[in-house]
Amino acid sequence: MSVPFSFELFPPRTPKVAARMPEIARALGRVHPDFISVTFGAGGSSRGASLDVLALIRDETTARPLAHLTCVGSSFAQAAEIITEFLDEGITDFLALRGDPPAGLTEHDEFLSDLRSGAELAQLIDGVRQQHLPRELGPIAGRWHVRTPPAGITAVAAYPNGHPQSRSLEQDFDALLAKEAAGATLAITQLFFEADDYFAFVEGARAHGVTMEIRPGIMPVTSLPRLVRMSQLAGEEVPERLHRSLDACHSDEARRELGIAHATAMCHDLVAHGARGLHLYTHNRTDEPLELLSRLGLVDRTTLATAERTTTAA
Ligand code: FAD
Repeated sequence: MSVPFSFELFPPRTPKVAARMPEIARALGRVHPDFISVTFGAGGSSRGASLDVLALIRDETTARPLAHLTCVGSSFAQAAEIITEFLDEGITDFLALRGDPPAGLTEHDEFLSDLRSGAELAQLIDGVRQQHLPRELGPIAGRWHVRTPPAGITAVAAYPNGHPQSRSLEQDFDALLAKEAAGATLAITQLFFEADDYFAFVEGARAHGVTMEIRPGIMPVTSLPRLVRMSQLAGEEVPERLHRSLDACHSDEARRELGIAHATAMCHDLVAHGARGLHLYTHNRTDEPLELLSRLGLVDRTTLATAERTTTAA
């Protein structure tokens, strides 16, 4: 099996995890993902911390650092400023998101400024990137150089089981097509637990005219509380079969084995039936995602032997 793969990290929430971020980034970088994405806290709360992790990926690995950005917490002008700040730091790849309502607000409240959807943000990212002058050239020197705008990934989110707020999958297909029309070059999916959900979604998206890669987002789930939490975060039903199987395990080792085996089988199915890449949600862990990639034959076990074993969650 040979497909590109990528990882997601999130900014550390404790000083202890912050101290370990370089080691985590290096361990993931060592297996040559095509990019490592870094989440963006609600309302832009993690802007500095996100940038720190992106800089680590830029400096310590060969992977492309990809920044999540949200509409929540930013006006159109403020988002343009943030994109420029990231471009100045050499971050040229982005995942454009609307973001969820901030704590205490619901979808029925007004929680956005004049930037209102993932599609609008994708369009803004493309525009700012096209205009961006590398900092070292400066505006005057820039006039005398034939300048190639930085090429970059503009990724967006996709929901194989529908966005919790969408009225029908039709609406999700239209939203995804609008994102591609706005400049998106890659879609990354929300977590799901059955490969068939992904296949049905991709088939529907293609029928609606979406042509960009739709990369499945995968996570080996190795504990019951994490399964429940991840399902809640994704707005998905807790998958009954996996819940039952994890519940029947009598040790952490058995739960780890089950979670990794379930994700491995699903990845085999996904790639065998058309997924062009895999995106692994790591939760700042390296052990389980690397073990998964090794079982898929995507990374060499000797490379893994040199990678530090990092199992503590953030
Ligand atoms: P949008 O696509 O803008 O859509 C929001 C809603 O509007 C949906 O119901 C959609 O159906 C509807 N809609 C949009 N466009 C149209 C249209 N043209 N016509 C009709 N309806 C439309 N959140 C964070 O805060 N930080 C993160 O770092 C983060 N990372 C994520 C990474 C991935 C891979 C995924 C899948 C989600 C992530 N999220 C993150 C969560 C995301 O912000 C929420 O799911 C949010 O509610 C929707 O964002 P969106 O960009 O998909 O929204």
